Amino acid sequence: MADRLARTLSADGTVRGLAAVTTDLVEEARVRHGTLPTATAALGRTLTAALLLGGLLKTEERVSLQFSGDGPLGGILADATPEGTVRGFVSRPQTHLPPRSGKLDVGGAVGRGLLCVMRVPRGEGPPYRSVVPLVSGEIGQDVASYLVTSEQTPSVVAIGVFVHADGRVGAAGGYLLQAMPGAEPTTVDRLEDNVGAAPSPSELVRGGADASAILGRLLAGFDTHLLEERDVRFACRCSRARAESAILAMGRVEMLDVIARERRAEVVCEFCAERYVLEEPELRALLA
Ligand SMILES: [Zn+2]
Repeated sequence: MADRLARTLSADGTVRGLAAVTTDLVEEARVRHGTLPTATAALGRTLTAALLLGGLLKTEERVSLQFSGDGPLGGILADATPEGTVRGFVSRPQTHLPPRSGKLDVGGAVGRGLLCVMRVPRGEGPPYRSVVPLVSGEIGQDVASYLVTSEQTPSVVAIGVFVHADGRVGAAGGYLLQAMPGAEPTTVDRLEDNVGAAPSPSELVRGGADASAILGRLLAGFDTHLLEERDVRFACRCSRARAESAILAMGRVEMLDVIARERRAEVVCEFCAERYVLEEPELRALLA
């Protein structure tokens, strides 16, 4: 099933829902960064969360999520655009903990700390930044806490990644539901009932549900219409030209030293692990 993001609104405008299937892009992130299962789940949940928040953005913004915890994983950073591209990495990709209650222990790997969410305008202007303490380090609850605290919107966020015994990603996805101003108490009750009765996001995806089917399940009993469905994918903004700029920023003396010692320079993008190798002739051309 292709990775997709779906967005819907109830007919009376009081309930908003987004859902995403992200299995392929989380697997791509695993391969690129060489993550072990607990790190794979933590990174995959954060990439999915960034895409869900990206679905709430205006078109001229992007969103960045940074988890800073005291657990063995270190930090997690992901950013996403409203067009459905996302990229990200974890500080220690080799992190793997014993499962807790039969599940990958993402909360234990992240630990206690802070979540910083930034909405960054693509043109001029400062980013809009908010920081909330982590609730559990399980990612979904932390993002819901951010939405409730910073945007004063009652929200449910559930995200899951299923990892096969051999380490490959078997299923990944999530959803975000919000009760908008003016929602009746019965609306919130029905949402809570639906969420309580639904399987976890990774179970829904493993069962073959696509993004709009996940929304259909969670918003059963509501009169909704699908606003939009789009492809989502892992994509980075790095390029050979940016790698060259990074090398030039070392300065002339340092570059001559690298040429003398290594005869080549290598830049690795931390967001996507792409390697850019510049051989001596290219380095000399840059210097000139
Ligand atoms: Zn990159």
